Amino acid sequence: GGGAGGGGGVAVVGAGLAGCLLAVLLGRRGIEVTVYERRPDPRVAGAEQGRSINLAISARGLAALEQVGLRDHALKQALPMHGRMVHPRGGEPNFQPYSADGGRAINSIGRAELNRSLLETAEATPGVRLVFSRRVTGVDTKAGALLLEDPAGRSSTEPADVVLAGDGAYSAVRASLRPDGDTDFLEHGYKELTVPPRDGGFALDPDALHIWPRGTSMMIALPNLDRSFTCTLFWPKSDFDVLDTPDRVAAYFAEHYPDVAKLMPGLVEDYGRNPVGSLVTVRCWPWVRYGDGAIVALLGDAAHAIVPFFGQGANCAFEDCIEIDRCLTETDGHWPRALSLYQERRKANTDAIAEMALDNFVEMRDRVSSPVYRAKQAATHALERRLAGRYVSRYELVSFSTMPYAEIPSRIRRQNRVLAGSAAGAAGALVLSLRILRRRSRR
Ligand code: FAD
Repeated sequence: GGGAGGGGGVAVVGAGLAGCLLAVLLGRRGIEVTVYERRPDPRVAGAEQGRSINLAISARGLAALEQVGLRDHALKQALPMHGRMVHPRGGEPNFQPYSADGGRAINSIGRAELNRSLLETAEATPGVRLVFSRRVTGVDTKAGALLLEDPAGRSSTEPADVVLAGDGAYSAVRASLRPDGDTDFLEHGYKELTVPPRDGGFALDPDALHIWPRGTSMMIALPNLDRSFTCTLFWPKSDFDVLDTPDRVAAYFAEHYPDVAKLMPGLVEDYGRNPVGSLVTVRCWPWVRYGDGAIVALLGDAAHAIVPFFGQGANCAFEDCIEIDRCLTETDGHWPRALSLYQERRKANTDAIAEMALDNFVEMRDRVSSPVYRAKQAATHALERRLAGRYVSRYELVSFSTMPYAEIPSRIRRQNRVLAGSAAGAAGALVLSLRILRRRSRR
C-alpha cells in the first residue's frame, strides 16, 4: 500500500484479541506485518492469571471471526447461553430468554483459547511475524520508529511507518500520543471466583448467564467447557476490603449468595488469592496521529475500553479490525485515508456502546430482579413476536445483529414513541369504554 512514506513497514502492538485478528486480515491482503507483544508466548508460558477467564461472544464477534474462517472453530470451544438466570435474594431462580423466540444465544468462550486460536491463525498467515516478550514503550512519529523494551530492561527501536496499537485499556501507545480525553474508573471493581463441577457435571444450568442482582452490586457466572463456572463479583471497591477474614467471607456469601456459596468449596481461598480488577471507560480523540515518519492508530480497548456489562468489548474490538480492513479496500490500500475513514466511522459507534454498557450495569444489578421489569420484558418479547422485525429489543440489536451501535439508541426511541402512542391510544379507548359502561349502568 502507498502513502505511508518511508520503508519501515507495518507494526501491530499487542497480540491480544484485536491485534491478532488485525494481523491476520492484513497478512491476507499481502501486507507484511510484525506484531509486538509484551507477554511471552502464552502457548509456551501458559495463560496469564487474573484476567477475565471467559467472555461472551455474540453476533458481531462471530461475524468478524467468520472473515478469517474461525467462526465455527470458536463456536466449538464455546457454550451457548440462551438467556439470563436471575437468582433473587431469598427466592427461586428465574430464567429470562434473551430473544423473543428463545432461540438466540450468546456464547461463553475461554479468553485464553480464543486468543490462542487467533495467534495460531496469525502465525500461519504468510507475511505475519510475531515477536513476544517485547514491551512497546512509545512511538517516535518523527523518525518512524517503535520504542521497545525486553524483559531484561534493554531498550531498542524498530523502524515502523504504520503503527496499529491494540495494546489494551492501559495502552502505552495511547499514553505516548496524549490524545484529548480521559479514563473513567468505575467505583466498582471485579473479582473472579470458581464454581467447580459437581459429580462430574455442571453445578448450575450451563445454558444461561447467571446473575445475582443485589442492588448496588452483583455477581454473575458464565459456564466453561470443563463444566466449571467462572463467577465475577462486581462490587464497590471498598466493599472487597471489608471481608478481611475467612469467617467474614464465608458468612457474607452464606447470607447474600446462599445458593452458590454451597457450590464453592474453594470460596475463601479464591477470595483471598484473586485480585480486584478495575473497570474503565476510555474516551479519547483522535485515534489517529499523522507524524512525519509514522502514522499511528489506536484500536480496540486502547481506543475505547468499555465496562463489561453488555459483553461487547471484544466484539467491538473485532469490529474495528473489520472496519480497518474495509477502509483499506475502499482506499486501495492508502493508509492515511483508510485510517482517517476508520476513525470517523467508528467513533460514534464506540461512544454509543460505551454508554449502553454503563446503563446495562444498572439493569443487571437492579432492574432484572423486579417483577415490573420481568412483566415489561415479557410484554416486549410478545410485541417482538407480533411485530416480527419491526419491534426488536435493545439487547437483541446489540447482541444478535450487526446494526451499527450508534443507530440503536435512536431506533429504540422511535419504537418506544410508536409504542407509547399506541399505548396512549389503548388507554384512551379504555377510559372511553369505562365511561360508556358507567353511563349505561346509571341508566
Ligand atoms: P486486549 O485483549 O487487552 O489485548 C491487549 C494485548 O496487548 C495483550 O496481549 C497485552 O499483553 C498486550 N500489551 C499491552 N501493553 C503492551 C505493550 N506496552 N507492548 C506490547 N504489548 C502490550 N468483552 C466481550 O466482548 N464479552 C465479554 O463477555 C467481556 N467480558 C469482560 C469481562 C471483564 C471482567 C473484563 C475486564 C472485560 C471483558 N470484556 C468482554 C472486554 C474484553 O476483554 C476487551 O474488550 C478485549 O479484550 C479487547 O481486546 P484488545 O485486543 O483491544 O485488548
